[in-house]
Amino acid sequence: MIRARTRSPEDTKNLAAGLAELAQPGDLLLLVGDLGAGKTTFTQGFAAALGVSEPVTSPTFTLAREYRGRLLLHHLDVFRLDQISEVLDLGLPELLDGDGVILIEWGNAIRQALPNDCLEVALTFVDNQDEAPDERVVTLTAAGSRWQARINSIRRAATRWAEDSTC
Ligand code: ADP
Ligand code: MG
Repeated sequence: MIRARTRSPEDTKNLAAGLAELAQPGDLLLLVGDLGAGKTTFTQGFAAALGVSEPVTSPTFTLAREYRGRLLLHHLDVFRLDQISEVLDLGLPELLDGDGVILIEWGNAIRQALPNDCLEVALTFVDNQDEAPDERVVTLTAAGSRWQARINSIRRAATRWAEDSTC
């Protein structure tokens, strides 16, 4: 697990951009965190680094959006629990079998329907949120061999923001 701290939306986008450099076809990232924690902001930085030029907006009401960059990027949001069946209906298995990269906001909510191999990106507000409204703790957890194999590169990508790192 790698723990980082970002101090602005741009920081979070830059951290995401570094991770996007490591992205491979078929990758899955779960974005976890409360409303406003920065999941969509993270996705914007990730997409920009993949070369996506169009604006990335929250897919809360559309469930899924697709962007073309160095890799095809699928951005999903499964916030509303009653939509989980819809997300599965969207053809998630086909997306997971495809060559794109999939980022799922609130992805932990459908964890049981997803492959074990994923990078979980958890964004949390800090305890002293009133004094540091633009700070977030970002925890990166690599599950499965696909991501474990890249753990050193992930750690390097997060060095600028690293707090401490285990495993
Ligand atoms: P989510 O998708 O998790 O609901 P958003 O990315 O839509 O969250 O919103 C995050 C909000 O918090 C944005 O308004 C963003 O500008 C702001 N923000 C402030 N500091 C940060 C930070 N360090 N990282 C990410 N977003 C931040
Ligand atoms: Mg969002």
